[in-house]
Amino acid sequence: MTTPFTIHRPEFLRLTGLLDPAVPAASVLSTWDAGEWGMAVGDLADQFSEYHTPLAGADRAALLALAEVFGGSAKAGAALRWCPDPQADTERWWEVEDSPRAAALAGELRREVAPGHPLHGIALTPWLECGTCDDVLVRLDDENALPGTGPYRVAVVRPTWSRGPETPPWPTTAVFDRALDALDRLESCHRTAD
Ligand SMILES: [Zn+2]
Repeated sequence: MTTPFTIHRPEFLRLTGLLDPAVPAASVLSTWDAGEWGMAVGDLADQFSEYHTPLAGADRAALLALAEVFGGSAKAGAALRWCPDPQADTERWWEVEDSPRAAALAGELRREVAPGHPLHGIALTPWLECGTCDDVLVRLDDENALPGTGPYRVAVVRPTWSRGPETPPWPTTAVFDRALDALDRLESCHRTAD
């Protein structure tokens, strides 16, 4: 009898090869090889999401098709929204986390955000930057971001690049309790109406 294991394993292996080299693929592979195929595909999507790994259209479709086989396509689809598609016109943002660019953005926001601004006094971690405008998606490293608390807040903020303190409400900011809402905002930034 042919099992999902034999049919889909080569594709699953290929997709795990697209993970960021910093991400250990061994755990999702062992989950797959233990017969927990649906969980393995979900974990793989979560790993792509967690590291905001760029995923081109064909690979994205392949992963979603695999998730569909095991009934997890909706959850995988939500996770993959964190992965920029380098070929899509509608997604012009990229990951800056842990890069020199993130440090530059954090420094600029520290200079610009003055007392009275909703982000004043809060440490910020830049995650994603729009490549078309100056919007940046940042995590708010306040008490909600501590381990065991919860859910952290995020903001889409647009630095003015004045190199000095701004007058609130500048830099313009939208704070979100759910990271996916901020992603909606970032994704819709330059999408023209149908
Ligand atoms: Zn933008």
